[in-house]
Amino acid sequence: MNPNILQTPIDYLKGVGPNRADVLRKELGIHTYQDLVNFFPNRYLDKTRFYKIAELQRNSAEVQVVGKIVNIKTVEQKRGKRLVADFVDETGRMELVWFRGHKWIRENLKLNTPYVVFGKTNWFNGLFSMPHPEMDTLADFKKQLRAAMQPIYPSTELLQKKGITNRVVNKMLQQLFTETQARFFDTLSEEIKNEFRLISKAEALFNIHFPKNAELLAKAQFRLKFEELFYIQLQLLLKNQLRKQKIKGFVFAEIGENFSRFYKNHLPFDLTGAQKRVIKEIRADLGTGAQMNRLLQGDVGSGKTIVALMSMLIAIDNDFQACLMAPTEILAIQHYQGLVELCEKMDLSIYLLTGSSKKAHRRELHEKLENGEIDILIGTHALLEDKVKFNNLGLAIIDEQHRFGVAQRAKLWRKNKIPPHILVMTATPIPRTLAMSLYGDLDISVIDELPPGRKPIRTVHRFDSNRLKVFRFLKEEIDKGRQVYVVYPLIQESEKMDYKDLMDGYESIAREFPDFQISIVHGQMKPEDKDYEMQRFAEGKTEIMVATTVIEVGVNVPNASVMVIESAERFGLSQLHQLRGRVGRGAEQSYCILMTGHKLSNDSKTRLETMTATNDGFQIAEVDLKLRGPGDIMGTQQSGVLNLKIADIVKDNDLLKTARYVAQKVLKEDPKLALEKNKVLRFTYGQLAKHQNIWNYIS
Ligand code: ADP
Ligand code: MG
Repeated sequence: MNPNILQTPIDYLKGVGPNRADVLRKELGIHTYQDLVNFFPNRYLDKTRFYKIAELQRNSAEVQVVGKIVNIKTVEQKRGKRLVADFVDETGRMELVWFRGHKWIRENLKLNTPYVVFGKTNWFNGLFSMPHPEMDTLADFKKQLRAAMQPIYPSTELLQKKGITNRVVNKMLQQLFTETQARFFDTLSEEIKNEFRLISKAEALFNIHFPKNAELLAKAQFRLKFEELFYIQLQLLLKNQLRKQKIKGFVFAEIGENFSRFYKNHLPFDLTGAQKRVIKEIRADLGTGAQMNRLLQGDVGSGKTIVALMSMLIAIDNDFQACLMAPTEILAIQHYQGLVELCEKMDLSIYLLTGSSKKAHRRELHEKLENGEIDILIGTHALLEDKVKFNNLGLAIIDEQHRFGVAQRAKLWRKNKIPPHILVMTATPIPRTLAMSLYGDLDISVIDELPPGRKPIRTVHRFDSNRLKVFRFLKEEIDKGRQVYVVYPLIQESEKMDYKDLMDGYESIAREFPDFQISIVHGQMKPEDKDYEMQRFAEGKTEIMVATTVIEVGVNVPNASVMVIESAERFGLSQLHQLRGRVGRGAEQSYCILMTGHKLSNDSKTRLETMTATNDGFQIAEVDLKLRGPGDIMGTQQSGVLNLKIADIVKDNDLLKTARYVAQKVLKEDPKLALEKNKVLRFTYGQLAKHQNIWNYIS
């Protein structure tokens, strides 16, 4: 076969022509033969199996039944007539129904003749019915040569309108397989194919389009999924490898004065094993000479801040500056205060910069930053402003990375001629394999252990009708000296309504608790006012904090032991988990109370059940991933990353792990894919990179 035949424009395929080619390009992105071969069905109709009527299940997919029509009648309805046939086999009776084309059908249907009918069934009034079945007499059925598993291709309205139906797509593929004689080059090495018993590319492509049976289809899917995931991983790993070679980083060779002094004298607690391990990983990275680009995942309260500080101390010991960027002003201030306190006995210059920093303060800060008098700068997005110039920024840390985009990360990179080392921290854990696929260009550290002595937060779900009981419980807790959060949703589209809910809630709480001090914080307040209220709560001057989700990330008030979340059904899982993480920070037993009305969707129920069942952020992330799908979790910005053709990052998670492992193994032995046996990998990878067809999602 001519090796370039797959690059033939689709116009040249017999039966396509310029008009159809245009539609194929616009609607499906099919430009070449290769694109068409790689246009996979999204499901199959299983025509290998015959069902008995007694076996039919509600809500099942299409089924195929053999039986006879014993009676045909026309039923009058308000909206026209319908034709109903009684269809029986030896196990029971069902109905075949037509809403259109009565006359023709009625004239052609034969009574008491064996038929094979195929279609989706509905369950109504104790009887299954099949509207507009596909049907053949059993005699005709036996004569036909047909694919047992019938592929169904993704379609659009326009495709249907232009006559490019499933049948036509199927025909086009038949033509393509004839023209090319189905001799497709393999794209995986013999070694890999043998190790995982993968069928050849040609066989896989044939059986994905024309499966002879379910087993061959499964083999074809497995092979193609593996290949897709493998090349994604290979690309991510190669990119990472390249970055490490190309982008030189500062070498932080010294573990010096500040780090050691802090570790020996000022560490307020023993580090957990996980914290120690992660600090070691970071230290190792900082010493390699390659620029560090690391993601630190750790559940809420797992103690990421101290890891951040100790990493910054390493930078300072090597005569560099460090910065820490947080997504909100409240959080930046809290980090600032926390770090100043931790470093009280050390000789360090720590500054804070936020949107509301005063002019005079800024002027001083800019100057000191540029002449290197500031060791650590903490702040919000304000750090990204062009005016903020460092003398020699060696390490930039981003807290709660999911709040920032890639662009912002890039901006930090450019704060220095040589990019600083970057550490991004997130408390919205995503399953490790997903993280690997999404942030394949980052190395990953995980803090998977909470500091000792934490009592697991008790989480309950209560209906609004039990509010008085909940209030009584809050009162008891406050009487014991604790503090309480009450959080209301804030969703952009209905900001006004949410604001009203919040204010109504505030008033009812004020009425209910006349003896307690209440703080209120919401998005429409001036930053100064927010901080003032937060501060009062943090200092214990108020007992109850009524707030919207602005307190979601990071805020640390260890004496607060109850988190009440109003309209909890309106929050996503990761948000609920984040909010819950605001309590359980002290020694006391803490509680999270999820309030909802009685009407709940299935997804809401699953979310609430998950929250009451576990405190483990990673487990919650898995459920979240299943509920929402990966695209949603990462936001539209990155959802393209997961635009896989055949594999499913959630369902094929084990295969993804295997693919990554294989890609790692290959590169370890042969980092440049230079060995003879890997020639096919190098070639395919080169093609993919060049044509950017399936795998063009990597920025
Ligand atoms: P997060 O990972 O959510 O940012 P923090 O760094 O804010 O968590 O830590 C949460 C709380 O746990 C803080 O009060 C911190 O002082 C405390 N903490 C962190 N590490 C330890 C440890 N090893 N032992 C005891 N307490 C710790
Ligand atoms: Mg934190």
